[in-house]
Amino acid sequence: MAIKKKDQWAKRWKVTSFTDSSQVYTVSQHNDGHYGCSCKAWIFQRKRMPNGHCKHIEVILAKLAAAAEKVLVEATRKLLDEWAVQELEYIPDTGMWDMSERVV
Ligand SMILES: [Zn+2]
Repeated sequence: MAIKKKDQWAKRWKVTSFTDSSQVYTVSQHNDGHYGCSCKAWIFQRKRMPNGHCKHIEVILAKLAAAAEKVLVEATRKLLDEWAVQELEYIPDTGMWDMSERVV
């Protein structure tokens, strides 16, 4: 009896169609980083797809990008909580500018 190959898929997501909930696909990320999908389009036509991604994989990539952006937004908000930043509508007269004017 052959030993079952170790799972090569690092991550898995279930994608359910918004318009037809009976349409459920499994998107997986391989250990080497590439993505796969259980839909017929990806299995038979992936070579014709941009980057080899079907629309279900694109959904997962968009979700991951949104999650990464959320982390960035939260980090930015934390930074803004620590610092008060105000854009000035005029250049404050600090006296520094007078010196350069005299040189010219
Ligand atoms: Zn798919």
